[in-house]
Amino acid sequence: MGTAAEGKRIRIRGTVQGVGFRPWVYRIAVEAGVTGRVRNDSSGVTIDAFGDDAALRRFEDALHASPPPAARIAEYESVAIPAEPVSSFVIVQSAPATDRRVSIPPDLATCDDCVHDILDPSNRRYRYPFTNCTNCGPRFTIATDVPYDRGATTMAPFEMCGPCRHEYEDVFDRRFHAQPTACPVCGPRLELVWPEGSASRSASHFRDAIDEAADAVRRGLIVAVKGIGGFHLACDATSEAAVTRLRARKHRDEKPLAVMVPSLDAAEAFGILSPVHCSMLGSTERPIVLVERRLEAGLAPSIAPRNRQVGLLLPYSPLHHLLLADAGRPLVMTSGNLSDEPIAFTNADAVARLSGIADVLLLHDREIHTRCDDSVATVVRGAPLLIRRSRGYVPRAVRLRTPVLAPVLATGALLKNTFCLASGTQAFLGPHIGDLENLETYESYRTAIERFQRFVDIRPELVACDLHPDYLSTRYAEGRSERVIRVQHHHAHVVAAMAEHGIAGPAIGLAYDGTGYGPDGTSWGGEVMVATAAQYERVATFRPIALVGGDRAVREPWRIALALLMDAYDGQPPAAAEALLQSVTAAERATMTHLLREQVQVSLSHGVGRYFDGFGALFLDRRSAAYEGQVALEWNQVADPSVHRAYPFDVNDRTTPIELDLRPALRAAVDDTLAGVPVSSIAAAFHYTLAAATAAAVARTVKVFGPLPVVASGGCFQNGLLAEAVGASLKGVELRLHAEVPPGDGGIALGQAVVANAMAIGDAGAGL
Ligand SMILES: [Zn+2]
Ligand SMILES: [Zn+2]
Ligand SMILES: [Zn+2]
Repeated sequence: MGTAAEGKRIRIRGTVQGVGFRPWVYRIAVEAGVTGRVRNDSSGVTIDAFGDDAALRRFEDALHASPPPAARIAEYESVAIPAEPVSSFVIVQSAPATDRRVSIPPDLATCDDCVHDILDPSNRRYRYPFTNCTNCGPRFTIATDVPYDRGATTMAPFEMCGPCRHEYEDVFDRRFHAQPTACPVCGPRLELVWPEGSASRSASHFRDAIDEAADAVRRGLIVAVKGIGGFHLACDATSEAAVTRLRARKHRDEKPLAVMVPSLDAAEAFGILSPVHCSMLGSTERPIVLVERRLEAGLAPSIAPRNRQVGLLLPYSPLHHLLLADAGRPLVMTSGNLSDEPIAFTNADAVARLSGIADVLLLHDREIHTRCDDSVATVVRGAPLLIRRSRGYVPRAVRLRTPVLAPVLATGALLKNTFCLASGTQAFLGPHIGDLENLETYESYRTAIERFQRFVDIRPELVACDLHPDYLSTRYAEGRSERVIRVQHHHAHVVAAMAEHGIAGPAIGLAYDGTGYGPDGTSWGGEVMVATAAQYERVATFRPIALVGGDRAVREPWRIALALLMDAYDGQPPAAAEALLQSVTAAERATMTHLLREQVQVSLSHGVGRYFDGFGALFLDRRSAAYEGQVALEWNQVADPSVHRAYPFDVNDRTTPIELDLRPALRAAVDDTLAGVPVSSIAAAFHYTLAAATAAAVARTVKVFGPLPVVASGGCFQNGLLAEAVGASLKGVELRLHAEVPPGDGGIALGQAVVANAMAIGDAGAGL
């Protein structure tokens, strides 16, 4: 070291705690020959590094080169400080935090090294289902407080044995400061529980509880498995009898069930995978990934009835790896609940609620402190898109380009609810809550918000909610003491997309979904708007559809089909067109026709999702949907992607907003059907008609407002074909889709938070 010592203070923000970041910094500091210290602080990690110029440069280069796999560096800042005469590099223990806004890391899938450990008979963790290290293991779901340290996790009651303690304290060990580290001697244990009166209790030739559970699965039984964020119900995914029994007991109609497979090779056998699918399947977040399924590959048909896709996921805990290996077949892994209830996550809860569904329960004594469902991802236009953002992602922050001035809580929507807490440039989306339609879910929502507030240390001064007065999320907001700001549903969708892309606005936003409260008393969902965070102008919408019986029309989309026919043919649809609805009786048609003519029990919906329902019901002759959006999904999947034609449509620009009118398209599609054109071609043309109508609306908007960025949000943009068609139709304009924030209502809270903040600032400005 020839030159004089210098100093650097380096601040790193992002997911850098609980992911092996400090030991990694220590190792590269030692290698680079710098002295100093590294410590966790309120917003990440701070390093004071001392050494000569060359050593410091080596150190900083290494910091940028290859951080630990689970770390995410969001911000990096390096400033010169005076040199200090220290002779070594040390890791400073966490002090009790004053500002506690530290990131607890998300739960991390088991790393390859740990998988190797549990499969190696000579390793002391052979077949140990709670093996983890600095690079993997549970985090968010076991954290009981901040900062993230063993004492503030549900591992606190387990005292480390000598060898574990040694690894934990050895900076060159993979388990250095791995908070949940454990081994068979000192850690949590499994227990297989056969419900009272079960005659299935088995012999002693099993190696352990996992072996016995795997045997149960092979015999066609249903096993409740305690996982990372809650319980799964597992059964043999190749056994139609087992899957049918699971559906019947769980009261789960036709909603697809996720299937866990042991490896990427196995995933390839059941689905058609692109490299993007593979990288998502294998990521540390381990979401369920929707893929086109190979129908001949042997999965039970009732895994996903009337659905060409299947949700696959890879094991993400050692318990999964061992269970899959022992079972020797793919397993259904669906959330451990009755339909519509929150997922069970405590042993007592599972015994109480799942004993009627599962034949046997695989429990353990490491508590799950916060429930967190599996995340769900898909690929749209060649890029990953999250449909449900939960385990593996929560509580990682979404960075905001423009900071919020006051801390804000956004309470989300009704279905697929998540909430959001934002402060400064960080927006924390909470775990998937589900549909806020019953007391159990509502209770879990309230608890989750309270806990999350503590974890991210945000005391909201503003609360944002939907305009809909009857949503439980709106009622919850109104029950709080802070100032409440109501945000229009589709404005929130659009701003969520803008926020994800760092667009301050104005932007042209497409918000296509099933429903959302419109201030004019109709249901919106086919909206083209020009939006900033504070305001929106609705420039175009789709011609409204008459829904007879409101929500009933969503469950029985033949009602929508008939309404579309009545509208397209001025109340006199040809008999041949009505005859497409063979599953509907003449009497039912007559009643519905009467109600439509007299406008009885009719509400109006602009939702693009309702057009999918109606067209799908008519041309596929689907009377009812087993779950929300089922017919729309079928209408998407039946489309032939090689067909790129569009039907005619009208643009009514005498109204404000202008109205996109698909009546000509419906008539053309009916003509096609009667002429024998395949339904796959009609469905594709429907998608391209929506795209062409969208492009027409965008072109008119650009004429008035000038060229603006275009973002797309709303549940319809989970549909890859629609996204592709719209993207291709917008000539010379880039269509920006969501990526990590779901386009559906699971992403809406982010937009609510940003809008509420902007509106509050606007109000303050107006008062000056
Ligand atoms: Zn590991
Ligand atoms: Zn141990
Ligand atoms: Zn929506």
